[in-house]
Amino acid sequence: MDDRAGSVRREPRRILIAGGAGFVGSHLAARLVAEGHEVICLDNLQTGRLSNLAPLMSESRFSFVRHDIVQPVAIEGPLDEIWNLACAASPPQYQLDPLHTFRTCVNGSLNLLELAREKQARIFQASTSEVYGDPDVSLQAESYRGSVNTWGPRACYDEGKRSAETLFFEYERLGVEVRVARIFNTYGPRMSPEDGRVVSNFVRQALMGEALTIHGEGQQTRSFCYVDDLVEGLLRLMRSDARGPVNLGNPGEFTVRELADMVLAQTGSDSPLLHKPMPQDDPRQRRPDLGRAKRELGWEPRIPLAKGLAMTIAHFREELAGRDRPVSVVRAG
Ligand code: NAD
Ligand code: UDP
Repeated sequence: MDDRAGSVRREPRRILIAGGAGFVGSHLAARLVAEGHEVICLDNLQTGRLSNLAPLMSESRFSFVRHDIVQPVAIEGPLDEIWNLACAASPPQYQLDPLHTFRTCVNGSLNLLELAREKQARIFQASTSEVYGDPDVSLQAESYRGSVNTWGPRACYDEGKRSAETLFFEYERLGVEVRVARIFNTYGPRMSPEDGRVVSNFVRQALMGEALTIHGEGQQTRSFCYVDDLVEGLLRLMRSDARGPVNLGNPGEFTVRELADMVLAQTGSDSPLLHKPMPQDDPRQRRPDLGRAKRELGWEPRIPLAKGLAMTIAHFREELAGRDRPVSVVRAG
């Protein structure tokens, strides 16, 4: 674990997190503030929620700025690190305004990269397993070039994130210190129950006594990483000397149907399953090759899906308890 070769690193650091009111960004912000750093969170609140930041709002080392990174970003004073997590991550959310999603990835990245260059700050990009598209290999290593549709409904995000990687590595050639993680499906407390991703949908539906919506037969697979594991990987990456993109995720691979069964068993819900049409270009499989992360960061995830789901369900149970329809099911076992 490193430090910037040849430069003096200020401690505590002054850190900007774009997208800090979102699911992952708020966990990262909490961890960095707890480590004693000054954190400025910048977010347009498109999918993020101020409630995610409630525990930080009274901290003197924390501040929030409402801003869209598509517009130029100006921050007074020095910055040591910039984290770019700004972008809706859930397919129904990023497809609501595809051009804005693409601008967020491209114009937003350019604005933050220019800021990094001006401040001589190290900059992180939250890239994604979506750069592999609908992969035709069963374990995706960073060397895999991907199988992406340039003009389908997911392209605004997939191609936006691919373009952002290009920008980050071009700025690296200009001397900016960049770190890029390809994040695989991550879940946990503080996901918005209305976000539309599979874990938040299934847990909300099970707790509210609604049908679990399974796309297709549910035979497509995903590998689900608990958010605390991811944040540990992000921090190790940012403080490492790793060059090039690094996969971060959990190697446990589950079908969507298996996930639904686990959620039903853990919540004790008797919600039925409702099959819906498979969305266009939905990847059939996804599982990270973690060789680079293990070798270069000494990182691998520790929290299996069963344990992470239990913690997520407990959080959702609390958040949904105040809603009109009661959380109707009792804890199993
Ligand atoms: P999220 O939707 O909860 O958080 C994204 C945050 O970015 C939100 O607070 C949103 O309001 C903000 N945002 C969006 N567009 C913005 C803009 N133009 N300007 C300023 N703020 C903007 O999603 P998340 O799961 O926390 O994901 C965080 C990052 O990690 C995203 O970049 C996402 O693409 C990436 N990622 C996440 C996953 C995952 O499974 N969670 C997987 C791969 C990549
Ligand atoms: N999915 C599903 N029901 C839902 C939401 C999603 O079956 O209510 C499926 C979705 O089609 C995909 C998988 O679950 O095959 C993961 O979807 P998510 O939106 O969480 O992430 P992504 O597709 O971006 O990996």
